[in-house]
Amino acid sequence: VTSVEIAGVTVEPGTRRNVSPTVSEAYTGDRTTLPMTVVNGVEDGPRLFVTAAIHGDELNGTAACGQLLELIDAEEMRGVLIVVPIANVLGAQVHSRYLPDRRDLNRSFPGTTSGSMASRLARLLMDQVVRGSDVGIDLHTAANRRTNAPQVRVDIADRRATELAMKFGAPFVLHGPPRPGSLRQVAGVEGVPVLTYEAGEILRFEDGAIETAVTGCERIMAELDMIDDAPDAGDVLYMATSRWMRAERGGLLSLHVHAGDRVEEGQELWTTLGALGAERATVVAQDNGIVIGATTLPLVSPGDAVVHLGMLDGGDPFEDDPSEEEHGS
Ligand SMILES: [Zn+2]
Repeated sequence: VTSVEIAGVTVEPGTRRNVSPTVSEAYTGDRTTLPMTVVNGVEDGPRLFVTAAIHGDELNGTAACGQLLELIDAEEMRGVLIVVPIANVLGAQVHSRYLPDRRDLNRSFPGTTSGSMASRLARLLMDQVVRGSDVGIDLHTAANRRTNAPQVRVDIADRRATELAMKFGAPFVLHGPPRPGSLRQVAGVEGVPVLTYEAGEILRFEDGAIETAVTGCERIMAELDMIDDAPDAGDVLYMATSRWMRAERGGLLSLHVHAGDRVEEGQELWTTLGALGAERATVVAQDNGIVIGATTLPLVSPGDAVVHLGMLDGGDPFEDDPSEEEHGS
């Protein structure tokens, strides 16, 4: 059994330590740190990392990280768990998805030590967390003014990642090739499969989204034989494609469905009303599907994305020929 060293800190077998490497400096000159917890088990095994709030306003994963760490005991674990609850510490400070330099951390990987603020933070995460890990889980929510049903995004061209995505046990798995410069894409190129979990809204702690994240991480740890047991998962539905349904008429939005709902072809999804209450349009589903995401803003203009429908044509993720329209992680 071996000790591990992360950011210059040695973590002995059967113990956990908090590690806070310097990532930037405030205008006052104070150190800005990237807090993480490293749990080293009592037997050798895989190294798993869990990151949250790479988009600094996506906080469900941050709460999940805290709950996961309460459940995990170094003395009953194998391998190494690295948990980074607030990866974008600089954005989270100002409740922002982006860094103060207006860059998106999840488009800045692998980063450089001499680049922009985002690039430096990405590089630190690559060097200290991603490289040397066997698997990663990256926790997100929907973007501003949207909500997502709990789901894992994975590129089904990556068999190992797809197997793990199904084991995670969120109700939905969605095929999506990773965005260039994202943690998932760059880690994947370096041979570290990363699952992107999406659930709920920005700037909230939502119990269901958090619980599914925590139990999903436990199930991955059990799958990797890092822990003995994890809660059973419910059914996992795989979807190969998805489509945003957009408004054609402007007005006040009356949504008839919620994230997570199953809808049938012809079912009414939403009604757009004029400001004085007159019905302007009612939009119906053109296929059977799952509402995997929806707007939370009750005002719509033509072109606004209102309902994100996952298509129930997925079949078997290990046999499909993937194609994809629009994803936002
Ligand atoms: Zn995100």
